[in-house]
Amino acid sequence: MTATPRPGLRDVSPYVSPQLTVTARLNTNECPLPLPQGFADELADEIASLPLNRYPDAQMTRLREELATSVGHPFDGTWAANGSNEILTQLLQAYGGAGRLAAVFEPTYLLHSRIAWLTQTGVVSLSLDDGFTLSREAIATAIGANPDVVFVCSPNNPTGNAQTPDAVASLAGRTHALVIVDEAYIEFGGATCLPLVGEHPNVVITRTMSKAFALAGARIGYALGAPDVIDDMQRVRLPYHLSAITQAAGVAAIRHAKEAMAILDAIRDERDRILAALRSLPDVTVYPSDANFVLFVPPKPASEVWQGLVDRGVLIRDLSSVVPNALRVTAGTTHEVDLFLSALEEVLAA
Ligand SMILES: *Cc1c(COP(=O)(O)O)cnc(C)c1O
Repeated sequence: MTATPRPGLRDVSPYVSPQLTVTARLNTNECPLPLPQGFADELADEIASLPLNRYPDAQMTRLREELATSVGHPFDGTWAANGSNEILTQLLQAYGGAGRLAAVFEPTYLLHSRIAWLTQTGVVSLSLDDGFTLSREAIATAIGANPDVVFVCSPNNPTGNAQTPDAVASLAGRTHALVIVDEAYIEFGGATCLPLVGEHPNVVITRTMSKAFALAGARIGYALGAPDVIDDMQRVRLPYHLSAITQAAGVAAIRHAKEAMAILDAIRDERDRILAALRSLPDVTVYPSDANFVLFVPPKPASEVWQGLVDRGVLIRDLSSVVPNALRVTAGTTHEVDLFLSALEEVLAA
């Protein structure tokens, strides 16, 4: 006998970002540099001393305390999980679900609609304006759709621009929906919406250590919200969802936050170098970026440019399914960015 999965499941492909063996991997917005050696050594020592025969601290006390202190937010409004994708899943399990509705402003991060689907939440798809900003009209349309959850991604992936806290406040003040502000790239630029949480307890901020903290492999994300929202996440979380190893990694990362933040300037410089170089190329449309990546539209088919770059050892992301004919490149090391820029010039000249 064969088993029958959930209706529609087989119409959905597994989420993958193609990984190829290339010289410059600029497709997933990770930090291009490895962890500082001191951090890696300390982490190894901490992990070796953990009592792994016991379940971890289900309340993640140390990690939440360190996170709360480092961002200046109350402990009982702070939560952690396996990447911000798990944070988003827990939020949708608690505030979405069958018969409920999540609004997304497109183009944006594909995972938002996907996590809605995963949790049986309906999706209402709205549009950002031409500059990818959250216009008054878009906000009014969102409110009119009467959603239970609204996603705002700021800085937005894949477009790169941040939304203003004023726009988010005007949305949050006029809806009973949970307004999830995905700040995966906030360390690179844009104004945080964290100060809104006090006045608007329906706002929750989600962040990650996968990008600026150089810890994509550790899978650590966190939420900053009103204590009631965090309580609701506790009701849906799996028992002991965050391993003792992950909790220790998070605590160690916060201890080394200064080192992580010290390399952000170098990454922003590379991003700005990409922006300037792409702007100087004829017929390339380049979008401004507050993040560690740049979205651009080449004057040739995106798939052809993508393949031409791969043939030259440079992997970027084809996002033409999200923004017509667009490609996204992550700000890597100076060497990686040099490789990308010279390969792109060759491909466009060919
Ligand atoms: C990369 C990214 C995430 C991070 O996901 P993790 O699960 O924390 O690795 C979340 N939101 C956006 C918009 C992203 O680009």
